[in-house]
Amino acid sequence: MRDLPRLILPWYRANRRALPFREGRDPYRIWVSEIMLQQTRIEAVIPYYYRFVKELPTVNALAACPEEKLLKLWEGLGYYSRARNLKKAAGIMVERHGGKVPGDYEALLSLPGIGAYTAGAIASIAFGLPEPAVDGNVLRVIARITGDERDVLDPKTRKDVAEKLKAVYPAGTDAGDLTEGLMELGEVLCLPGGAPKCGDCPARESCRACRDGSWDRIPYRAPAKEKRVCPKTVFLLRCGGKYAVRQRTESGLLHGLFEFPGIDGHLTKKEALAFLEKQGLTVLSFSPGKKAKHVFTHLIWDMTSYRAEAETEAPGFLWKTPEELRNEIALPTAFKAFWKEISE
Ligand code: SF4
Repeated sequence: MRDLPRLILPWYRANRRALPFREGRDPYRIWVSEIMLQQTRIEAVIPYYYRFVKELPTVNALAACPEEKLLKLWEGLGYYSRARNLKKAAGIMVERHGGKVPGDYEALLSLPGIGAYTAGAIASIAFGLPEPAVDGNVLRVIARITGDERDVLDPKTRKDVAEKLKAVYPAGTDAGDLTEGLMELGEVLCLPGGAPKCGDCPARESCRACRDGSWDRIPYRAPAKEKRVCPKTVFLLRCGGKYAVRQRTESGLLHGLFEFPGIDGHLTKKEALAFLEKQGLTVLSFSPGKKAKHVFTHLIWDMTSYRAEAETEAPGFLWKTPEELRNEIALPTAFKAFWKEISE
């Protein structure tokens, strides 16, 4: 561990990829990019990142952004709570930190949506503080270098790795470069699937997994619990050229976002018609539609659908043309298959 800065920093500085988030060390941009990069690949994030920082270039602009516009900017990235937390945290930064991202690890950690990893990334990259940022890549690299065969999904392992790293972390520019260097190493050399490229790795002399060939069982992950499957019935209700959507009021999953009307369970045709009648709809035509699955972190929506033409625009729904749906409403990715059906 002590050798890490000496080994990683020169390699990183000579080999780093040019990424838009690495242009300058603006704390706001680093924060936004780190939040976007959670659960999303770098290549997928880049166009969203450019659009986001162009529309909302400062903490103040983000804090003042209407939620609808924010969700529209986020549409396609998924995990919308990340966008909501960005706005909440921006509001706190305006109130307590003069509209700036705070340059203090504990203050960062206290903000919505900022956990130990993101606080470490912002603190080290933007402010040069000796705070490590342990994501899946870094955990894999360190577990291999130290021959650590504990379960990497166990928060205790992550905490322990972060503490060991902190003990050897440099300050100033080196801190940010070590954070990015470790991540980069995990992304380009110490690969998760298949053999790592140990021959090109600056840490090979100090790496236990490289020495004893244990890289194929490190990082170890205890078997994951099975995801809960939730059956659902979704309705593509049309009246004239407009489709019905409504806002999710339940707290939790996709809270506050728009959806096509639906109900838990797979309804038979008869049950589905009875459900629509109960919503005050007179149905002119009715047919089974697409089936789709969407996988969330802890559960899977197993969706079946019906298409129906309604006589009138029943209250209780918003009725929107496909164009309005595209431009005004942030429909979660979970409904992509049905949205595609409408667009086609
Ligand atoms: Fe990973 Fe190989 Fe480098 Fe060790 S030497 S950190 S296993 S790429």
